Amino acid sequence: MREALAQARLALATDDVPVGAVVVGPGGEVVGRGHNEREATGDPTAHAEVLALRDAARTLGRWRLDDCTLVVTLEPCAMCAGATVLARVPRLVLGAWDPKAGATGSVHDLVRDRRLNHRVEVVGGVLEAACAALLLDFFAAQRDAPTEQGDASAADGAAGVTGAPGARALPGPLTRAGDPPPFP
Ligand SMILES: [Zn+2]
Repeated sequence: MREALAQARLALATDDVPVGAVVVGPGGEVVGRGHNEREATGDPTAHAEVLALRDAARTLGRWRLDDCTLVVTLEPCAMCAGATVLARVPRLVLGAWDPKAGATGSVHDLVRDRRLNHRVEVVGGVLEAACAALLLDFFAAQRDAPTEQGDASAADGAAGVTGAPGARALPGPLTRAGDPPPFP
């Protein structure tokens, strides 16, 4: 997660929302890295997770990352949760939960949908305070900057990031009787 945090900080150079991700390979080595480059590249799909998964696939020479772990500083959105499933990643480690847009347990749970034949183990809240602080500081600075237009939609996205250590956005309504506990 510290590597993912280092990636997240790289996004600040281009005024991108500081989210970072790494893919850890079967030997425990980092095989893919990415940080949010939406502003840097003008690409709406240039999220940290997608870029890290692509980087890992390039490194390993295969799209199937079924022996890898995706580590990301913020709970993935629907697109990135989908990409995680498509890459057959078996394990996701995330920092801060995103109760407003998270798709791996908060708003949606696309990685543990019973209708899919691939499911992902989710470990949440790792270095949560540090991951959330980076985002909250970023949005606070954006709000305070008098000359900047600000990105209201992006600010909305992280307004609900859980910053308090130990805080959890438990997806109560998504847990059905008989389901395993939402988070290990
Ligand atoms: Zn995403």
